[in-house]
Amino acid sequence: MTDNQVYQKLRGHLAALRMTAAAEALPAELDHARAGQLSHTVFLERLLAREVQAAHARRQASLARFACLPAPWQIADFDFDAQPSVDPSLVRELATLRFLEDATNVLLIGPPGVGKTMLAVGLGHAAVAAGYRTYYTTAADLVARCHRAALEGRWATTMRFFNGPRLLIIDEVGYLPMPAEGAAALFQVITQRHFKGSIALTTNLGIASWGKIFDDPMVAAAMLDRLLHRSVVLNITGESYRMRAHRARASKLRDRQATP
Ligand code: ADP
Ligand code: MG
Repeated sequence: MTDNQVYQKLRGHLAALRMTAAAEALPAELDHARAGQLSHTVFLERLLAREVQAAHARRQASLARFACLPAPWQIADFDFDAQPSVDPSLVRELATLRFLEDATNVLLIGPPGVGKTMLAVGLGHAAVAAGYRTYYTTAADLVARCHRAALEGRWATTMRFFNGPRLLIIDEVGYLPMPAEGAAALFQVITQRHFKGSIALTTNLGIASWGKIFDDPMVAAAMLDRLLHRSVVLNITGESYRMRAHRARASKLRDRQATP
């Protein structure tokens, strides 16, 4: 067999194994190996590393697409000085993602604009980067989806779907009143994940007022019981970050006008 025939066979093997990144890198890596008189092992390691990197990048991209995170917010971008009620060391501990290992839940409680979604989404991005399957949904979307699933006979599949991710982010619980059927769906999602997978949940309602969003105070109590059983609670009591920024701008303007 001529060199060229061997080369074509090698390309064929790479194609058959769907190693497209290695196939693409092959000519350049061969040139590099010849020029640098690299050993066979070094050449092969370099070629396979290209494929491994490409597979990793594909997996990361697919995890990121699946997660549906609504914003690029990272934990590192959170301004702790603006929100003294948030303990930076607690958030840094959460950002290590150890809480995912024992299915600990994270409850972010506070009024609008204080960064609940930002922190939950930041944890989501960290989880994706670490290779954990993550999924973001609002409580309203989750309930609507379960409702459709029930009508279309896909309840079990949908429950399995919400059971799948290692981290499930449920945003904005309590913003909209929840019908009994919606509360039952949320309850089932929370119950089936209990001890199996973490939930990061944001809500504008203090724990004491959970009974109000759900028609059934017993369901609310049972849901809280499961969520809190193994959980980290962040109670954010400060004011809205946007309002704060807005006020800072306004007062700067005023100061400027006051000084002649
Ligand atoms: P919530 O979910 O509590 O209503 P968000 O997380 O949506 O609030 O935050 C509202 C806006 O303010 C977002 O643009 C967010 O990035 C920003 N924000 C809130 N808190 C902070 C903070 N401590 N540092 C930086 N940005 C913040
Ligand atoms: Mg929010």
